[in-house]
Amino acid sequence: MTHASTETINSIRAAVRQVCKGYPGSYWQDLDQRRAYPDAFVDELTKLGWLAALIPEQYGGGGMGITEASVILEEINYSGGNGGPCHAQMYTMGIVLRHGSEEQKRRYLPKIAGGELRLQAFGVTEPNAGSETTRIETTAVRKHDRYVINGQKIFISRVLQSDLMVLLARTMPYDELTDKTRGLSAFIVDLREAGPRVQAHPLRTMINHHTNVVFFDNLEVPAENLIGEEGQGFRYIIDSWNAERILLAAEAIGDARWFIDKAVDYSKQRVLFGKPIGANQGVQFPIARAYARMRAADLVRFDAAAKFDRGERCGAEANMAKLLSSEASWEAANVCMDTHGGYGLASDNDIERKFRETRLFTIAPVNNNLVLAYLGRNVLGMPRSY
Ligand SMILES: Cc1cc2nc3c(=O)[nH]c(=O)nc-3n(C[C@H](O)[C@H](O)[C@H](O)COP(=O)(O)OP(=O)(O)OC[C@H]3O[C@@H](n4cnc5c(N)ncnc54)[C@H](O)[C@@H]3O)c2cc1C
Repeated sequence: MTHASTETINSIRAAVRQVCKGYPGSYWQDLDQRRAYPDAFVDELTKLGWLAALIPEQYGGGGMGITEASVILEEINYSGGNGGPCHAQMYTMGIVLRHGSEEQKRRYLPKIAGGELRLQAFGVTEPNAGSETTRIETTAVRKHDRYVINGQKIFISRVLQSDLMVLLARTMPYDELTDKTRGLSAFIVDLREAGPRVQAHPLRTMINHHTNVVFFDNLEVPAENLIGEEGQGFRYIIDSWNAERILLAAEAIGDARWFIDKAVDYSKQRVLFGKPIGANQGVQFPIARAYARMRAADLVRFDAAAKFDRGERCGAEANMAKLLSSEASWEAANVCMDTHGGYGLASDNDIERKFRETRLFTIAPVNNNLVLAYLGRNVLGMPRSY
């Protein structure tokens, strides 16, 4: 838990900005075209300790809070880069930190902090269950001192860039449960030892995100790799969601700031009909509105982060931060595209790349409809819609 001062936040911003300067738009455009992973960028961030920000100092990490971690990711996206390929190395370990045994923490966290182990694959989504996580079908059956895992996942990102994966699997049949949120368990899967028992097939998407369809065929996982108690995995995953939502909200805010800056600059430079296009209210007001919406979303994001860091309940704020910032970044993306006219679509221009990238935030890690359903039911007390 930290209560970061403005000075600390500003120094993090400056330091991350400095790193990002070495990775200009041309670096990200090239990766995007080749659908390649930003190894050099991620290696540098890892060496400098930025991806270990959330790991406590006793395990070799930075001991920072979500507030500071969110600023790191915001600055990456504000620089024109993309935090997507590396953000999960920051937060996936949170489930081990909060619910793992002391032995698991000692075994994994220092190596994750030092960059020796990459834990940035989180296997939850399945083709049939979709957003209804309690319906997942991948099974983990206990056999003596091991669990045998069979099933299929989809959209599991960075499997090929990870040594470890946190996997959610069913340890009790759905029909035998009275409480449908039980019966799922979380495991640490060592992908280095899995061999052909885990098959990852890259899924080409409209953005450079290294996501995969993954098959598990009689994969044996030692029972000691179970995280926490059997049957409690869904609860543990939910605990991780608030951190993830706040961090991704910050990335969306970074994108929104980038789009707005770009739009403002271009609107001042591009002269048509004898004046800069930004002098026209039809161009200026949408940019101003996008800016106001970004600022409002940013306040909710910092409110959510502060609550998280104080150890308070922050489900409502984390969800609202994700909702509002994903909408703000999408609005800013469209405004930036409109401001640039045809040039916004040119592929040597980072706008079209970031336009595609920022679209993800309304859909994943949770779609905004389910965020609204959460707010309606859990915050406003309305009838359950799902
Ligand atoms: C690039 C990318 C990377 C991803 N990475 C990962 C990852 O690393 N690990 C992982 O586990 N998952 C990952 N995901 C999956 C992601 O979390 C899901 O795509 C997301 O949660 C939405 O689930 P779905 O795609 O199955 O949509 P569905 O659940 O099939 O929903 C489809 C549509 O129906 C709507 N809908 C569904 N139910 C309701 C309801 N009750 N009320 C109103 N509307 C509803 C939704 O709004 C949505 O628009 C990734 C996805 C993408 C695209």
